[in-house]
Amino acid sequence: MLNRLWQPVNIVGLLRAMSLLFRGRAAAVHADDGHHRLFSAAEWVDFSTRQPPPAAESVRSPCIVLRVPRVLLLNSYDRVPRREIRFSRRNVYLRDAHTCQYCGRVFREEELNLDHVVPRDVGGKTNWENIVTACVRCNSRKANRLPEPAGMTLCRAPARPKWRLVVASSLSPNELEAWKEFLEVTPAGQLPWRN
Ligand SMILES: [Zn+2]
Repeated sequence: MLNRLWQPVNIVGLLRAMSLLFRGRAAAVHADDGHHRLFSAAEWVDFSTRQPPPAAESVRSPCIVLRVPRVLLLNSYDRVPRREIRFSRRNVYLRDAHTCQYCGRVFREEELNLDHVVPRDVGGKTNWENIVTACVRCNSRKANRLPEPAGMTLCRAPARPKWRLVVASSLSPNELEAWKEFLEVTPAGQLPWRN
């Protein structure tokens, strides 16, 4: 979702996106030849009919095939986007690109754990600066110790991530293509993709 200033503010699921579009709360944004066209729900239906999307880019009902809108522009949302990213297990994994911060290997989510760099017993906090992604093996090897006594080194110091980077890393390649320019860091107020 983009707010009226064309700043990314949120990611929503398909149902919510369709609901916003069909209730007139948002317009679909489609890039065509470097230009962004805005579509109302009716125009989007028409566009989907005239230019049928590939199967992976569409939703189907018995009587209609609709293109999945990747980017929506909200009609009435002026709030400046929240730059703070919520601290959660999933977002820590995304920040660390599903990479164990001790052995440097990439794992599936179910093979990962959160590790307190400074253990809780000795005052380690549960926050962006003290929590890293660790594989099950490294996590149990480190146990309740600081990295050094455990003979382990962090790939990089944990820090609060940038909202845009986490958003970008959570998108599929197709989605990223549609979002690339909106996630580019531009000086506030400059909207190079408009006009
Ligand atoms: Zn590991």
